[in-house]
Amino acid sequence: MIKILVIEDEESVRENLLDLLEAEDFKTIAAANGRTGVDLAFAEAPDLILCDMMMPEIDGYGVLTALRQDPLTATIPFIFLTAKSAKSDFRQGMDMGADDYLTKPFTRAELLGAIMNRLERQATLKKYLSSSPKIIPKTVSPKIQLLEMNLQRVVKQKQFQEFELHYQPIVDIASGQIIAAESLLRWQSPELGLVTPTEFIPIAESTGLIVAIDQWVLENVCQQIKIWHDVGIAYLTMTVNLSLMEFHQPDLLPKINELLGRNNLEPQYLEIELTESVIMQDINGAIATMNQLQSLGLKIAIDDFGTGYSSLIYLKNLPINTLKIDRYFIHNIAADHQKSAITKALIEMAHNLNMRVIAEGVETDEELHLLRDYHCDAMQGFLFSRPLPAAEFENFLWSNRHLYI
Ligand SMILES: [Mg+2]
Repeated sequence: MIKILVIEDEESVRENLLDLLEAEDFKTIAAANGRTGVDLAFAEAPDLILCDMMMPEIDGYGVLTALRQDPLTATIPFIFLTAKSAKSDFRQGMDMGADDYLTKPFTRAELLGAIMNRLERQATLKKYLSSSPKIIPKTVSPKIQLLEMNLQRVVKQKQFQEFELHYQPIVDIASGQIIAAESLLRWQSPELGLVTPTEFIPIAESTGLIVAIDQWVLENVCQQIKIWHDVGIAYLTMTVNLSLMEFHQPDLLPKINELLGRNNLEPQYLEIELTESVIMQDINGAIATMNQLQSLGLKIAIDDFGTGYSSLIYLKNLPINTLKIDRYFIHNIAADHQKSAITKALIEMAHNLNMRVIAEGVETDEELHLLRDYHCDAMQGFLFSRPLPAAEFENFLWSNRHLYI
């Protein structure tokens, strides 16, 4: 029997959904908030999740982020339910790895159609795998097995042309000018279509394939900065996300040094983004490596700050140039007093520690205005631009695109 988890804080909506699903012979489990929803997803491994986007404490984005970080729950089909039909919400949800999106009120046919679509896709993946001769342990979901097989092929046969780097502009809030870009990896698999990083990065990490992938990313980012500097965009800084495994490679420093030398690149134009969890795995080792990177002249950013496990007390001991506030705090910040209070305090604290602050996931003018009032240094998000392929990003630069028109 197919098991569906419903995460919805409004009781009447939740009960309606459960009645409807049970009438269709689905087994149902229900959670009245995001935290219980995440716990139930781990405990029950449902076949599909329906999740409300707007909930107190942990909202739908928070639930999706938590689930996509764990290989056990990363590939469970996930459908957002929302009262709003805002395009930015849709794009953010899909960008984070949601599979579909239903705007309330939806009809029974729409709901069942969306559910059957996702379940059918999952079943196709299973069938494909059962006909494959390779023996794979049964504890891993079919989708993960399929992704892993393809990822192994890309790395072992060096078919890196399936990967592409996209660049999301980072904009100075005071001047409105593009000052930097975050490089983000995309995988366009001939077999699987576009695979999001939230789907394949955890697999790349658990298999160790991430080291070769990160190496490819670093090489290409360095070449790209050089290309853009050479054509006259000399101010541009590029940021790169480093995985835990790459960060702890013993030859990381010589490797980066070699890349800088080979591309004749000044190190201050490369900024390394590390998440809290990468740093906190081994705080002393991390500090040592971060110090070495800084002594090479590179800048370091702490990424997705606020949702991880780090204590604020550590922050003052970390050699960090930039603090990137997680999109969770920025989303809907103008209407959420807790989020705005936390963000304001984070910006002040970071400035006191001589860090620059970038807000991630800025999508509306209200969010931007509040961040400007709080003296946040820079922003990144769909309000200005999604991540762009290199050619489109370059057009953006040449057209002198500006945050305030
Ligand atoms: Mg990042």
